[in-house]
Amino acid sequence: VTETTGQKRSSAVIYREPLVAGFAHPSQRMEMRGAVTGRVLRAPDSDLWAVEVVLGEATELRWRTGSDAEAIYVLSGSLRAGDDVLRADSALIIEPGAETVAVAEERTHLIQFGGADASNRPGPLGAPSPDDHKVHVVHRADCPSLSATGTLYYADSNCPTCRVTLLRNYRHVAHRSPSHIHSADELIYVLSGDVRLGSQVLESGMAVAIPGGQRYAFRSEDGFDFLNFRAEASLYTGQPGEPPVLEVLAHLQ
Ligand SMILES: [Zn+2]
Repeated sequence: VTETTGQKRSSAVIYREPLVAGFAHPSQRMEMRGAVTGRVLRAPDSDLWAVEVVLGEATELRWRTGSDAEAIYVLSGSLRAGDDVLRADSALIIEPGAETVAVAEERTHLIQFGGADASNRPGPLGAPSPDDHKVHVVHRADCPSLSATGTLYYADSNCPTCRVTLLRNYRHVAHRSPSHIHSADELIYVLSGDVRLGSQVLESGMAVAIPGGQRYAFRSEDGFDFLNFRAEASLYTGQPGEPPVLEVLAHLQ
């Protein structure tokens, strides 16, 4: 059993707040033209962030990511990116340094994740290739899933040119997860249902940042549905002493 040394980071719940005009987007290169309201979801001990926004019809987003990859998940509405139209439950994975232009075709509600540079923290798969960075469009119908755990993978850290994991995990009934550890930091955004961590109850619109290396378990009384973002590849450890498993689909299936 290894003990974490040095300053210990702890998980932090991020509460639901209203979306406002003129919020400070953490991606400084982001240009937003049109009607936008939003809020930033960020925990003090985590590099990861999320932004929940509602775009009015014809609002344009234009930016080049920095050294961190980002992901956008469409909650409702439709977002055009190049020749693709992303409707509800589709995602964009935006690799470091990739340029993106996206236009809302109607009122569109989305959540964007970002905030950690995988080239600084290579993780178990090493740093991604620095060349040919691109934007992946992932539609829900094309997502591989692990039906045993109710998990849809939009990205699983296994791309040659990025290390992002974006997954959606859901259960329709009460659930109790095993106690476990992920080696990578996570940002979890609750879409619906209840997610209970100790005495804390997370509901729709709430989030929690869980630092890599922290052992935790969660439970749900009525079922749940959440998005989980990681910027680097991760190892999953179940019970203490169990061998860690690389969290890419090929190893989890
Ligand atoms: Zn990629």
